[in-house]
Amino acid sequence: MDSNRSRRSFLAFLGGGAAAAAVPAALARQSLPGVSSQVACAGDKYIHPRKVLLWECTRKEIRDALESGRLKAAIIPTGSTEQHNEHLAMIHDTASAALIAQSAALRLYPEVIVATPVPVGISPYWMERKGTLTLRPETFLAVVYDICESLKTHGLKSILILNGHGGNADPLKSQLPEWRGKLDIQLDACSYWEAYTEENAARYMQSGMAGIPGHSAEFETSVALAAFPERVHREGVDYSKVRLNLKSPRDAEQDRKYYEDSLLATAEKGEALIRIAVDWTVEKMRQMISRS
Ligand SMILES: [Zn+2]
Repeated sequence: MDSNRSRRSFLAFLGGGAAAAAVPAALARQSLPGVSSQVACAGDKYIHPRKVLLWECTRKEIRDALESGRLKAAIIPTGSTEQHNEHLAMIHDTASAALIAQSAALRLYPEVIVATPVPVGISPYWMERKGTLTLRPETFLAVVYDICESLKTHGLKSILILNGHGGNADPLKSQLPEWRGKLDIQLDACSYWEAYTEENAARYMQSGMAGIPGHSAEFETSVALAAFPERVHREGVDYSKVRLNLKSPRDAEQDRKYYEDSLLATAEKGEALIRIAVDWTVEKMRQMISRS
């Protein structure tokens, strides 16, 4: 397959696969990170990407979908706004989780809606590097819980918290037993990179499983190059001149290593990795819906 055809096929996949086969190359990300809302109509089976985004729907649309029984489940993307080395936008984790959630929901339309992404996470360990925003764990967890409770109040019986930031992962998992007890619905919390096996990591990543998720390295940079290349900024970057003045020499060494590994990234790797994560999320949602 030539690279243009491969690119078109990937963009169609992001737009919901066969149901949106003619999604154009100008798949644009709009007001919220990682999310597309300007895609031209592509025939009878075409589903406008906004239809699976709760915040872009009207109350009538959501009410009709719930009352008809069509809408059964929600995905809450969680991410961060934090330093992503010299070359990636701060919003990367939120954008990647939102994109995978939206693509999975389009495949499962009309059964799944994507709730508004939580754009700041638990990132205190990056505060030495400028631009990072962090929430206290209790603040972050309270926000996520309240969103789950809101969705449950409206009648949704399955909720997947789809995380895109490493620092949120363990705190979310540790809350699951308590939250399941309180909410009494199908509830799960996963980071999208749980989709990868040793085998597919080795197949697509030079840094292998050890490089997933990494931080702004081969994995995340590949995802960005595939999904939102406008958030990769190599211009004017000369890592040899970077002076971070980090307290820990180990942190400084790791930062350099992540940067060097990011040079292994390609859009093609990112496309393959995103497809795996979307397929995995679709399967996970199908299972959750079947149990609810
Ligand atoms: Zn990240």
